[in-house]
Amino acid sequence: MNAVSTHAGKELAAQRKRVKKNCAVCGREIVALKQAKYCSNRCRQRAKYLRQKMAKEA
Ligand SMILES: [Zn+2]
Repeated sequence: MNAVSTHAGKELAAQRKRVKKNCAVCGREIVALKQAKYCSNRCRQRAKYLRQKMAKEA
């Protein structure tokens, strides 16, 4: 195990490109990775739930 390289990996992850956007579910402004859509796991799950619900009702 190399503690130094582990630390370097963490720093690299923190520097990954982040963008300001709004959560697709609650609309809250977030700063997240470019591909992220939701502010939290909660909103991600809610989006999934809503998608399934709409598919059933349609
Ligand atoms: Zn949200």
